Amino acid sequence: MAKGELLCLVLNKSFLPFDIIPWQKAITLEFLGRGLAVEYHPTRKIKSARREWDVPIVIKVNSIRSTLVQGPPTRMMIYYRDGFKCAYCGKMLKDNELTIDHVVPKAKGGKWTWENLVTCCRECNFRKKEEIWIPRFATPAKPKFLFPQYIRLKESVDGKTKRVWEKYIPQSLVRSLAL
Ligand SMILES: [Zn+2]
Repeated sequence: MAKGELLCLVLNKSFLPFDIIPWQKAITLEFLGRGLAVEYHPTRKIKSARREWDVPIVIKVNSIRSTLVQGPPTRMMIYYRDGFKCAYCGKMLKDNELTIDHVVPKAKGGKWTWENLVTCCRECNFRKKEEIWIPRFATPAKPKFLFPQYIRLKESVDGKTKRVWEKYIPQSLVRSLAL
């Protein structure tokens, strides 16, 4: 068996990704006719005593769920948007080592908005204080899509799956997350 988990990207009615599920669930959806397999894994199969199953790695369901971003961001959404990188020095860190920075400081009227918040390491946040710095490693804009599952799970699958998935991840998402 090749390395990597067998996971399946789930697309909505408009072919936009909104979830990632284990292969067992993907095969069940296909078997029950509740999902249409769009892509199968090019080499891996699941074998039972009686037959071999192709494994869907992209499946489309009849849902209108989406990853469209609505409303104000949460701290975690900003981290995801910025790819867990400090906007000022580019250092990549874990969420518990990161902070949120107001580009225009609160004291100067800066608000909690997609356009004014960036991911920041503690060191830069401490040094920046009430100054305004240019975030060189982040684009403080509201992303059209935000798909946290993808960031979390894309490293668990093998290269073949990842290459197929990339065709279904909107460019705007890829750009905003600097993947
Ligand atoms: Zn920094």
